[in-house]
Amino acid sequence: MKNPNERQGATVAAKAAHYLDVNSGAVVPGIQLSTTFARDDRYAPINAANLYARDDNPTFIHAERTLADLENGEECRLFASGMAAIASVFYSLTPGSHVVLPDAMYWGAKLWIHDHCKRQDIFISEYDTADASTIEACVADQNRTNLVWVETPSNPMMHVTDIALASDIAHQYDALVCVDSTAATPVFSRPLDLGADLVVHSATKYLNGHSDVLAGAVVTRDEHPLWEALSTERSMAGAVIGSFEAWLLLRGMRTLFVRVERAAENAMQVAEFLEQHPAVESVSYPGLSSHPGHEVAKQQMQGGFGGMLSFQVNGNAETALKVAGAMQIITSATSLGGVETLIEHRHTLEPAENMIPENQLRLSVGIERLEDLLDDIEQALSSV
Ligand SMILES: *Cc1c(COP(=O)(O)O)cnc(C)c1O
Repeated sequence: MKNPNERQGATVAAKAAHYLDVNSGAVVPGIQLSTTFARDDRYAPINAANLYARDDNPTFIHAERTLADLENGEECRLFASGMAAIASVFYSLTPGSHVVLPDAMYWGAKLWIHDHCKRQDIFISEYDTADASTIEACVADQNRTNLVWVETPSNPMMHVTDIALASDIAHQYDALVCVDSTAATPVFSRPLDLGADLVVHSATKYLNGHSDVLAGAVVTRDEHPLWEALSTERSMAGAVIGSFEAWLLLRGMRTLFVRVERAAENAMQVAEFLEQHPAVESVSYPGLSSHPGHEVAKQQMQGGFGGMLSFQVNGNAETALKVAGAMQIITSATSLGGVETLIEHRHTLEPAENMIPENQLRLSVGIERLEDLLDDIEQALSSV
């Protein structure tokens, strides 16, 4: 289904199994566990789409078609994790390539990308995550850029990058744009419609939504050579998702819209609550008019600003850790995008050069009753 509008997106998600089983009449597809698929008496595959489970598998295809439709993309490939999906993009670049990265992005990806690119003689430039116009200087300087990476809203600072502007600049120099849209989700943002060429997700997060599946995805607008290369990379190098995980992901995506809309409504209220709280120094949430990226976020996100926010408490690392530790309903844990609210102190996890403020806490707001979340935050803030 091309060009789904917002309501069609919710419908695509709710009906996330396009291939109704005509044999059984089942409304929900089964899990295909077979790793190999039979051939007929002339050695032709019985179903040309299925040869061996490292190439493809009927259960992956259900989830891939659903996500491709949600992103308004041509095709999707699932991977064993978000990092495997991101790695497939970089494995597909040839030595000597030039990539442009945001200066603030998901730390695990940044660490691996820098390490990989060093080993492969791939040259990296960095732009200001909060100002896509700074991409121009990076690409003009090289005049041989292959890939521009965008992550918006970014982790954990919640900077907003203008996807349309990044795509305009990149395309003037024949570079591809890949957007890590994990935090925005296809509920609020469709980067391919804004000009991006590829979208990646840590499907571990909102797409699955229940903190019980590790998965990644890449969606493409068209079948360009980089897409062919990363598809080959997946089946040949074998970073495939398991059938059970693909099936759970499909099940998670059926409720994507209600979960993510509720999380974003809660996050907006939590952000406003924190912003007026005397124990809080500052709040970073793209939905707040005080956020420097609010106007861009309003243009490129429809219907909400996501469930992620960061705030700084008045005090130091010790104060922030005390607040996190005092939460009763909200759990201290890494990761994001589940139905349960999680709080994290990134400063403890990331190295000093990343300059994550020591008094900052990141919230992945879940779908709990809003009043219960606000009461928990209030009692934790007043305990220090
Ligand atoms: C979690 C995350 C990743 C990595 O995904 P995994 O599924 O943990 O491998 C990449 N990008 C963003 C923005 C993330 O939040």
